Amino acid sequence: MPAVETVAGRIDVEELGLTLIHEHFFSSDEAVTVQWPHVRQHEQEYSLALESAEAVKGHGVNTVVEPTAMLLGRDVRTSQRLASDTGLQIVACTGIYTYDHLPQFLLNRSEDFIADLFVHDIEQGIQGTDVKAALIKCAADEPGVNERIEKVHRAVARASARTGAPIMAHSRPASNTGPRQVGVFLEEGVAPEKIQIAHTGDTDDLDYIERLLEAGVYIGMDRYGIDLFLPTDRRNATVTELLSRGYAERMFLSQDFDIPIANGLDWYPPEMVEQMQASGAAPDWSMTMLFEQVIPTLKEQGMTDEQLDTMMVQNPKRWLGV
Ligand SMILES: [Zn+2]
Repeated sequence: MPAVETVAGRIDVEELGLTLIHEHFFSSDEAVTVQWPHVRQHEQEYSLALESAEAVKGHGVNTVVEPTAMLLGRDVRTSQRLASDTGLQIVACTGIYTYDHLPQFLLNRSEDFIADLFVHDIEQGIQGTDVKAALIKCAADEPGVNERIEKVHRAVARASARTGAPIMAHSRPASNTGPRQVGVFLEEGVAPEKIQIAHTGDTDDLDYIERLLEAGVYIGMDRYGIDLFLPTDRRNATVTELLSRGYAERMFLSQDFDIPIANGLDWYPPEMVEQMQASGAAPDWSMTMLFEQVIPTLKEQGMTDEQLDTMMVQNPKRWLGV
């Protein structure tokens, strides 16, 4: 029986249950945190994370996959604390979250050296704990799959091929990154069913999406609430059309929600967050809007309970199980 590593240990895939595939209880700039610790308020951040964890549990969520990798402030001990305080199953990752920059340490070392770092997290444990990573994260965004990003993708692919761990790749449909990302993974011998192209739901270009799906990969319809990239009604219309074309077995629903830290969101100061909310960039974004606003609408538009179960219970089992 396939199993999945969580921050509280290994579980059978049957125990995953209702799963949010892409949310962040914690995300922050780890260099700022180390160099200027006074800007962070860890206990306040923790209590906000606790609130969101309890809120998703209230909607029947059993598991949250948290793709907070290197450069996004991964802190596995705090995730362990959250899981033990709430009973929520939290799945941790390894990998690197960068759109372009790589530290010299990684720039001057090979893909295989970087793959070894990821394999260490998957087989030995993360940050000196015995918590093991269940998936490998990487990203391509506006700069595209340039030399540095390709290096990270090849390292991720090699670690996946060695361990069987699935890959979650942040993508930017507006920069057409998805097909190139899939291309690199397939060249390195990764099975398509181990690949998830996150943020595919930021576009409603069905030709772009179907080209990805034809490669046999999973796609993340995972940024519900970030209207800045695509408003909810257009995300819903896309999911509804893809369901009618028979793609329930290839889609994930999630929100990519980031919990605010002491000074607004990690990326933005509080005044910018307020401005974004007021301007309609992300007015309803939360870790529960999927249940409150999206799923009811998708059901009205014809989504069956079985399709919902496929996207939120069965797909996580198939993609995560090793
Ligand atoms: Zn994310």
